[in-house]
Amino acid sequence: MKKVIIVGGGLSGLIAAFCLAKKGIAVSVIEKKQYPFHRVCGEYISNEVIPFLKSLDLFPTVFDPPSINQLQLTSVNGREAILDLDLGGFGISRYSFDHFLYERCKAIGVVFYINTEVESILYNQDEFEIKTTAQIHKADVVLGSYGKRAKLDVQLEREFIQKRSPYMGVKYHIRTAHPSNRVALHNFKDGYCGISNVEEGKSTLCYLTHRSNVKQFGNLKEMEEKVLFQNPFLKKIFTQSEFLFERPEVINEISFATKSPVENHVLMSGDAAGMITPLCGNGMAMAIHSAKVASEEIEKYCNGSISREELEQNYTRNWNALFANRLWIGRQIQQLFGSVWTSNLAVTLARYVKPVADFLVSSTHGKPF
Ligand SMILES: Cc1cc2nc3c(=O)[nH]c(=O)nc-3n(C[C@H](O)[C@H](O)[C@H](O)COP(=O)(O)OP(=O)(O)OC[C@H]3O[C@@H](n4cnc5c(N)ncnc54)[C@H](O)[C@@H]3O)c2cc1C
Repeated sequence: MKKVIIVGGGLSGLIAAFCLAKKGIAVSVIEKKQYPFHRVCGEYISNEVIPFLKSLDLFPTVFDPPSINQLQLTSVNGREAILDLDLGGFGISRYSFDHFLYERCKAIGVVFYINTEVESILYNQDEFEIKTTAQIHKADVVLGSYGKRAKLDVQLEREFIQKRSPYMGVKYHIRTAHPSNRVALHNFKDGYCGISNVEEGKSTLCYLTHRSNVKQFGNLKEMEEKVLFQNPFLKKIFTQSEFLFERPEVINEISFATKSPVENHVLMSGDAAGMITPLCGNGMAMAIHSAKVASEEIEKYCNGSISREELEQNYTRNWNALFANRLWIGRQIQQLFGSVWTSNLAVTLARYVKPVADFLVSSTHGKPF
């Protein structure tokens, strides 16, 4: 019987593990943290994932996630557009959603190695050797779902890791008067901040900023007051809300560079295969969708109907067909944000030329699957 190891138990890793275990395949997940835990993420999920999650009985109904069908877009100096989202989405914290998926995976026999970091993945003669902080594992297939950037990328000599990335992400959970059917994207100089509601009446406030902003002002609080508050919508949120974390979740070096979906025979899914700019609100849907596509091909390999070469070729082809365009468009759109005049232009276009707004939203999202 073939053995699959999944490196990283975020959305992508957990969904792939669930799909494979459901098909009777022996699958283990190695995750460096311990569930439940918070992550930097806007926590707005596109509705394109709903049919698939419901088909696996993985839609997190138990959390009663708010349903979102409206986008509020504001420019650096506070110009506003409100748009209907045809497809829409829902809001759930990663703290709850990932933990829920972890429990569901355990219940169907997925083996977990928690608090365990993978240090290296070596491929030799049709077999993988996975070295962790605790032991060495062997596997026939490895799915790399370890997120946007990890030390493993250095060990796997991935090209994108050679370059530093100037972006950092910051997230808070807050209590505030935010309409539950709305996701907002508020621009500020060299960054943007999203807000949408999640379970239990909480809202997620999450922003992406160029690190030069933080360098200039020395710390986040000072930077928020000097830079984010220039947008009156952000000033209102930051000054009139209850902040629920002692300190924010922060990540650095967020890279949107092109990556390869297969690296040294390791299939990559989610952000490890390529990260879409967060303003598109599609990273989680892509993580889930790529896990679906990867697990379907891995299943064929495990039951002997395709070779390893076919596994890698099929996955690369399918991944590129589904996601490569979205990532490229997301990178182009991000350039419109973060400066006064381009963000004013984007908001004006979104407000008065609906087909442009519809095109931008639809080209950065997939279809329900
Ligand atoms: C600021 C910001 C806002 C965002 N907002 C949204 C949004 O509103 N909507 C949306 O859809 N997407 C959003 N995204 C994108 C979304 O968060 C990601 O696309 C999604 O989390 C990718 O899931 P993943 O499973 O690929 O990776 P992750 O969820 O990052 O999971 C990777 C896992 O691998 C583990 N890991 C890493 N290295 C190792 C190792 N060596 N060994 C073992 N485990 C390891 C990590 O601990 C982690 O649990 C946002 C991203 C950012 C940065």
